[in-house]
Formats: sequence, C-alpha cells, structure tokens
Amino acid sequence: MSDTPADRPVVTRFAPSPTGYLHIGGARTALFNWLYARGRGGKFLLRIEDTDRARSTPEATEAILKGLTWLGLDWDGDPISQIARKDRHAEVAREMLAAGTAYKCFSTPEEIAAWREANPRQPFQSPWRDATDLPDAPYAIRLRAPRDGETVIDDAVQGQVRVANDQLDDMIILRSDGTPTYMLAVVVDDHDMGVTHVIRGDDHLTNTFRQVQIFDAMGWPRPVFAHIPLIHGEDGKKLSKRHGAVGLHEFAAMGYPPAAMRNYLARLGWSHGDDELFDDAQAREWFDLSGIGRAPARLDFKKLEHVSGHHIGTMEDADLLAVLDQFLADTDAVPLTRQQRDRITAALPALKEKARTLPQLLDQARFALVERPVEPDEKASKSLDSVSRGMLSALTAAVQHASWTRDELEQAAKQVAEENGVGLGKLAAPLRAALAGCTTTPSVFDMMTALGREESLARLQDQTDLAG
Ligand code: GLU
Repeated sequence: MSDTPADRPVVTRFAPSPTGYLHIGGARTALFNWLYARGRGGKFLLRIEDTDRARSTPEATEAILKGLTWLGLDWDGDPISQIARKDRHAEVAREMLAAGTAYKCFSTPEEIAAWREANPRQPFQSPWRDATDLPDAPYAIRLRAPRDGETVIDDAVQGQVRVANDQLDDMIILRSDGTPTYMLAVVVDDHDMGVTHVIRGDDHLTNTFRQVQIFDAMGWPRPVFAHIPLIHGEDGKKLSKRHGAVGLHEFAAMGYPPAAMRNYLARLGWSHGDDELFDDAQAREWFDLSGIGRAPARLDFKKLEHVSGHHIGTMEDADLLAVLDQFLADTDAVPLTRQQRDRITAALPALKEKARTLPQLLDQARFALVERPVEPDEKASKSLDSVSRGMLSALTAAVQHASWTRDELEQAAKQVAEENGVGLGKLAAPLRAALAGCTTTPSVFDMMTALGREESLARLQDQTDLAG
C-alpha cells in the first residue's frame, strides 16, 4: 500500500461543491490544505465539484472564489471544473472495464429493489459480476470490488480505519446514461491533478473506502488522507445556522480581518503547543497533519475577538488601512476621503490598541470621519453647558500657539482645568464632545494631534461660538 507518496512534491486541493456560500468549515479545510502546501513549497489546487447540475450555480462558484480570495488563500493555476472532465471520467471507467476491474451490470432498478427486499441485510450483489453471456441492453459499469478481506485506510488524523469488504457493494462508476458517478470523478481528478494529500472533513471518511478501492483497482498510488473533525458550535453541537454566523462572508461582515481569521481558523482543530497567536509565516512553518486533533473544535467568538484584537493591534498601518478599505467596500459603505484617511492614519496607534474588530475601530474613529460643524449626540451634549464652553474657550486661547505635541496639549489642558478648579476629566468631557460629537473616542489629545491645530481649534470654536 503506497500511503505516503513522500517522493512526490506536495499537491493539495480544495474541492468545494458550488451549491451555496463558503461555509466556515469549508474555509478551514481550504486553509489547512493551503498551509500544508505552502509550508512545503507545494501546490494548492482548486477543483469545483459541479457535477450536480441541479444544485450547482455559477454564482456559488463566484462566492466561493471570492471567499477564498478574501481569506488570502491563493491557488495555483485555474480552478478545475469537474463536469468539464466527464469524458475523462468515462474513459477511465471503460479502461477499468477493459482491464476487468469493472464489469457491465444490466440489472434494472426494479431488479435491484427486489434483490434488496429478498436480502435486507446484505449489500447488493449483481448477478452480472461473473456473467459471460451479455445481452445487448443498457448497462451501468460497476467496480469489481474485493469481496474478501478488508479495506484499510491509514488516515493521518483518524489513524487506521477499516471496513470489511463484504459490507460494500460493487459501486457503480458509470451510470447507464453514460454519466460518471461522483466517487469515480473524485478519484480520477485527484489522480490526474497529482494530488498527494487529501485533507477534508471527516464526513467524507466513508466515501474514502470507496475511493481507495478505485485507486487500488487502477493501480494508482493512494494520496495521504487526513480527515478532520467538523466544527461544532459553542454548545458542542454540530455547527449550523442556529449558532449564528456560519458563512465566511458573515465573519467578514462582522469585521474580523482576514489575517485574524486565518489565525483563528488554523487553531480550530489544529494546534502547535500552546501557541494561540501567530502570523502566516509561523503557521506555514508549523502546520502539520500530526497537530490536527481528533475531537471536534468548538467555535468560540470570545477567542476569535481576542485573536482579531491582536492582529488589529500588531498589523502594519498600511495593511490595516487596506483591510479597512476592503471592509468598507464589502459592506457597501462610502470609501474614505483623503482627509479622513489622513486623520485615521494619524490616530491609528491609539485606535489599534482598543479595537478588536473593524467596526469597533470605525466607531472609535468617528471623530476622524465627521465633518464640521460637529453635531454632538445626545450623550455628548450633556457635557456641553455654558461653564464647560467657557473652559473650552480658555483652552482655545491657551493652545493657540502651542507646538501641538501631545505633552504640550496635555499640560495646557491641565492648567485650564486647574484654573477652573476642576479635574482634567471635567474638561476632557466637553472637549471630547466638541472634537468628536460622541463619547466613544480615543484620548482627547490623540484626537487633537490627529486632527491637527487648525481643525481642532475650528471644532472648539464651533462650540464656544455657542457659549453665552
Ligand atoms: N465536494 C465535496 C464537498 O464540498 C468535497 C469532496 C472532497 O474534498 O473530496 O464537501
């Protein structure tokens, strides 16, 4: 059994069925395959399993490619369409027929149903398996599967799994209408694409017994199989819509940066010691099949927020701005103006520290997005009365000629507060309201330096004009 094609360069693949959006579990499968290939100088291929004509749509294919692109998973070459290869699949079925590893089965659906009724505990056994006198009638092609012994898979995650061969029927590989079955298509494609490692959800484990029988019948080396446990919700039950977000696009819309999603998804079912926070280079270097656990991972939004906050906090400014631009575009928001971008950039060190998601960052950055005259919201307005406006007036005068460094602004504010017999907080509240019009903001001094002298003074002026 050639279960470890170690002599071949690594080729992995992601093989989604284009019947909907990219599920978070699919995204993780793609990520594992991508990490495994990229960490070994190998290839990561994409195959669209579009043989179910009734359920496959071009929109779904597009949504999946878009999801992978958003997540930053690049694939090698063009995506391969499975349906486009149907003639090749049929050709292999005929090759197997010629080689005797498959045979023509003339049983009709009614005959098969009757057989099953008479033999309720047995998989179907075709009477045509060893027949020599064949009619001129429509037929399906069935695999001549071994009847004795066991089919054994050495799974890189599940260990050795086996099934008694008398539990499996001779599966159909080519239907009587000439169309190949899914099982055959997957094997032929994995072989022709040179796939060395099949990393996928463990819901495919039972298919694998079928698939290795075809590999073996063709004398093709088996790829290494790694079946990963499915993702569960926070309650330990299989992840479903009931748990909230399950589509990758929903996580994107919640404002988790792609780098954070990669980090978080990598940890869903795989571990490298106690490492929770890492970048792509580390993930590529560390990722290995031996680190994949057998227990289902649980989706944990608190953890995700934590990972997201770490990545927002440590990302290069330019990268974070690019991620922010993408988020605004994805959520159909107005793009940042030049001025808004400059102000956000200036405040980024302060903004990065607090935000765990992009909406949180934008919330904190509201002061940089609003235009004069700033309309304080209800909560902010409460701190603006004639006394506090008087203090803002005094502050305006005091900082007129300040050098506009954080330190100097803070000194001036402290002095104004002192002269008015109040703590700095009593001045900071109206100052915040005047600068941002809201109460969730970075520190007032960070806002003043980000806005610059002219804009800050103008915003103060707008409020002090109302004094009296
Ligand atoms: N098309 C299958 C799915 O979307 C994956 C098959 C495979 O990875 O072999 O679940």
